[in-house]
Amino acid sequence: MKYTQRHMNHPKHIALVAHDNKKNEILAWVSEHAPILEQHHLYATGTTGALLEHNLDLTIEKLISGPLGGDQQVGALITEGSIDMLIFFWDPFEPLPHDPDVKALLRIAAVWNVPVACNQASADFLIKSPLMGEHYTHSVPDYEHYRIKRRNIAETN
Ligand code: PGA
Repeated sequence: MKYTQRHMNHPKHIALVAHDNKKNEILAWVSEHAPILEQHHLYATGTTGALLEHNLDLTIEKLISGPLGGDQQVGALITEGSIDMLIFFWDPFEPLPHDPDVKALLRIAAVWNVPVACNQASADFLIKSPLMGEHYTHSVPDYEHYRIKRRNIAETN
């Protein structure tokens, strides 16, 4: 895979997702870090976003609810470069109907080199990183190169 550079500016675009058993935890975490988070563009899957907006004075772009495709929607936003960071309080103890979507989302975040926190301690480290307030350049797959390579494969078959 050939890579290119992508730039993350300040403010960053942050996606927030929490499974049901983690909703109280993300509410407490977002409340604690609201002074930092409100400087950024926030997105959330449907129920997580509604919970946060209802309880906190934050503006959040609400996507579809996770079990109905919200995790995949976050993944799609990552692929197009619209999400810079994922805070995902997932429940490691209970199987969920949309477990395949969770796996897909984490894979896409890895593909596009997006910082991910899957628990509260990781989220603390991310939110307190000096990079939160800075311009940051990271490597992502070079889609233009990939597309041309695939077109050549298609044309030789
Ligand atoms: P929700 O989705 O915010 O709509 O509950 C989260 C999830 O379960 O992935």
